[in-house]
Amino acid sequence: MGKVYLTGAGPGDIDLLTVKALRVVREADVIIYDRLANPDILKEAKAGCEFVYVGKEDGRHTLPQEQINEVIYQNALKHDRVVRLKGGDPLVFGRGGEEAKYLKERGVAFEFIPGVTSAISVPAYAGIPVTHRGVAVSFKVVTGHEAPNKEHSQVDWESMRADETIVFLMGLHNLKNIADNLIRVGRDPATPAAVISRGTTPDQRTVTGTLETIYEKVKAAQLPTPALIVVGRVVELKPHLEWIAERG
Ligand code: SAH
Repeated sequence: MGKVYLTGAGPGDIDLLTVKALRVVREADVIIYDRLANPDILKEAKAGCEFVYVGKEDGRHTLPQEQINEVIYQNALKHDRVVRLKGGDPLVFGRGGEEAKYLKERGVAFEFIPGVTSAISVPAYAGIPVTHRGVAVSFKVVTGHEAPNKEHSQVDWESMRADETIVFLMGLHNLKNIADNLIRVGRDPATPAAVISRGTTPDQRTVTGTLETIYEKVKAAQLPTPALIVVGRVVELKPHLEWIAERG
């Protein structure tokens, strides 16, 4: 029985792959990868390495998670070194915990190889620090996938009234609901907000506005996924800290 490396691929820019991730990719017998993992990483694999795509498109799962778990397990029975490559960090909305649990229950050895999460690195590439002295002393990373008006929501909207940074992943399709809800719980409608699309890649684009304006601005700009949302006064630092020329 082989070993499974639950590996973060980083947010897009291949240079943000960790040294450890690159090492296991080069040694892998099979790489099971996601849509968000930069496909150029696969070019680092040795000759004869197998590739298995189990990506998901915009919430539509090509394979249900149960089946992905099983694919990983079956590969661990056949191969020595199995790399499960996932965008960003495998444990930040990456379901790496579910995959590890499935393997552990079946006696398969695994390692977590943390990756550079998009939640922090994508804002950085847009010139937005998630914390900044005197501006934000904390930040939250929240799923934007859950409709805010859903009954029994697990997301604590009331807690987001505080003047801190909030990063929403998987929230582009819910942007209007998210902005409306933050205003409803008491966030100032003039609170700065940014949406960053395809961060850390050559296609990176950012739209900035306020909770009141961001939805219309993003709609007009037709930003493609993947994209994340940053809310908070740190967004105002962008003109002072931006270091990448984005196309308009
Ligand atoms: N495990 C990943 C997140 C998976 S959830 C990580 O740690 O980064 C997928 C969401 O991440 C997307 O819907 C989007 O909100 C965000 N995301 C991932 N890569 C991104 C990128 N290059 N630019 C903008 N958002 C990105």
